[in-house]
Formats: sequence, C-alpha cells, structure tokens
Amino acid sequence: MALDASASLDLVALAPRLRGVIQARAETALERLRRWVELESPSDDKAALDFCGRAIAADFAAAHARLAIHPQAQAGDHLELTLAPGREKGPGLLLLGHFDTVYPLGTLAAMPFRAAGGRIEGPGVLDMKGGISVVYEAWVALRHFGLEPRRPVTLLLVSDEETGSATARPLIERLARDAAAVLVLEPGAGAEGRLKTARKGIAHFTVRAEGIAAHAGVDFEQGASALLELARQTVAWAGLTDLERGVTVNPGVLRGGTRSNVVAASAELELDVRAWRDQDLREVVARIQSSRPHDPRVKLAVSGGINRPPMEPTPAAAALFERACGIGRALGLALAAAATGGGSDGNFTAALGVPTLDGLGPAGGGAHSPGEYCTEDSLVSRAALLALLLLAL
Ligand SMILES: [Zn+2]
Repeated sequence: MALDASASLDLVALAPRLRGVIQARAETALERLRRWVELESPSDDKAALDFCGRAIAADFAAAHARLAIHPQAQAGDHLELTLAPGREKGPGLLLLGHFDTVYPLGTLAAMPFRAAGGRIEGPGVLDMKGGISVVYEAWVALRHFGLEPRRPVTLLLVSDEETGSATARPLIERLARDAAAVLVLEPGAGAEGRLKTARKGIAHFTVRAEGIAAHAGVDFEQGASALLELARQTVAWAGLTDLERGVTVNPGVLRGGTRSNVVAASAELELDVRAWRDQDLREVVARIQSSRPHDPRVKLAVSGGINRPPMEPTPAAAALFERACGIGRALGLALAAAATGGGSDGNFTAALGVPTLDGLGPAGGGAHSPGEYCTEDSLVSRAALLALLLLAL
C-alpha cells in the first residue's frame, strides 16, 4: 500500500507501521543474516571477501539497488549500491558499512550462527553484518510502503575496514565529500546501543632498532643493545599518555634479541596511539617521530603515523544526532550519545567536515570476541529508525 510520500510525511503516524512491517519480516531477515554470516569474510582473504560481497550485493540488487563494483587487486572488491534517487535533488546521504570481519576462516566451527531467545550470535553478527541487515530491512520496508527517501541514498560496503581501510579510504572520502551527511552502520555502544558521536583518532607505529651484537660475558661493552634501547623508548613514549585529555600510548608488542647471553642486535616495537583531539594526536605523533636513540650506536627506524583522524564533535554533527533523537522518539526509542576510543570509517568522513552519525547498527556486545552477539529487537528498531532517517534527513 502506498502512502503519501510528499514533504508532509507524518513520521509519528508512520513509525509504528514501519516497525510493524519490519517486525513481520524478522524471520526472513534472520535467515538472510545467517547466510551472510556463514559466508565467512576475514579482511585478509580476497576470495572469501569477494564471495561474501557478491552474495550481499545480489540480495540488494534483488531489492532493486543499483550496484557498482570497485575492483581491488589485493583487498576484496568494494561495493557501491545506489538505493534511491531521492525525492529532492542535491547532496545525498552516504550509508557506510563493511563486510569484512576479524575472524579467520573456520571460526564458524567453534562459533556457529545461533539465534535463540532474542539473541543472535556468530562471527560478525554485530560488527557488522547485522548493520548491513539493518540497511537492507530499512530499505525493503520503505519500498513496501512505496516511500522514497528525501535525498539520494548510496550505500558503500567496504572490505578492509577491520585492517584500517587502506584501499577503501579514497573511495569513502570521495563519496563523503558529495554527501549531506554520513550514517555509519557500526554497532551502537553498550547493551542499549548508544549512537557514536565522537571517536578517538588512531596512529600506529612500528619501530625497529638495530644495535650491535656482542658476547654478554666476553665483550659486553662492545655491544649496543637494541632491546634495551627500545625498552627505554617504550617507557618514555608510554609516558606521553595523558588520561585526563584522553591521550593513550599503548606499547602493544615488544620483541627482540636472541639469547640471554647475547647483547641484542635487533628489536621491534608496535605502538598504538589514540586521542580525542586532532591536535593532541599530532603532537604525540610528532614527539614519537622525532625521538633520538639514548645510545647513539643504536639506529632507530620509526615507521607509521596517523591512520584515522579523530571524529571530533561539531555543531552540524550534534544537530544530526538531535534529529535522530527526535525521530527515535517517534519509535519510542530513547537514544543516547556515546564517545568511543575505537575507530571506524566514520573517522574519515567526520574529519572532512561532513556531519557523521555512527553506531546506527544493532546493539549487542562482545565484538571481535568469541562472545559476539546482537539483539533481535535492536535489528528491528534500528531498521525502523534508519528508514525514518532516510525519509526525513
Ligand atoms: Zn566494524
């Protein structure tokens, strides 16, 4: 049945009907999500990614989305799906998702897809095949009512988000620049699925130290320990952590040396740096990059830098969140905001100054762990919320 799709859409009246249609389709949606989850798609397996991506694209194509494939040599191909031309011309909405997961092939054996008691488990069910399902159901529900989103809507599904979006980033940024707003289908924060309005920026470093090997007993002084050098640097860099300002420096991996009776000739350190503010992140990064060895006989090679700039709150992004809250109330949802130290592709679009709202995917917990789950109810309510957002924004 077609509803009036004019500008005078009564979202409050429409909300329960949309939700009802999405709820009635929940079994079908669950079966589709199972299919997507059972097509395992680790970020580093192009064949598996392409297979999964094609299946997801075929489902959207069957629902009348127009597909453009962005082929990649190493990564999985990225998928650009045009969902709607929009009632009005002008800049569109970009929906952002990824279909890669952190789980290697074969994870399903120990962590099968399961749905019981309103809880859905499986690799990537929350982060973020569940988020893709939210878009799918929102889109199908709008079509059911013959409703056209206000603006043109594009869904970009990328294949390398979990490893930093190295190949997807230019594409994400190109599409975001033309968009009025970006809606990211990452999971909501916490069991209640708060929307994400701020994310820390992230820098990664690999630091290699080359020293001089020597017998620890016979010519200790001739040796220059790469391991000791990196240990001292590690303490100094970790000292740049400033919890009050939300700056963290985490030395996650430190390895080096060969035997206890040999002065270590080489060592390697992996660092993760995060901050809420771009300026803070840049300061710490500059400090690390300009570090000098304590022992001048040891050579330090610092590689890496900022991967994701921070998603800093802006008035436009705050206004977008307020719109979402208002629309959520029509569905009886009390939406809240959250800031998170984790990054997403929303970091890239927010850093371009495009209003970005993240965490619109389902609620749940245990992302990137054997306990990953999302709730069936949030899949329904988020699909209804997204459908209304597409009509209103
Ligand atoms: Zn994710």
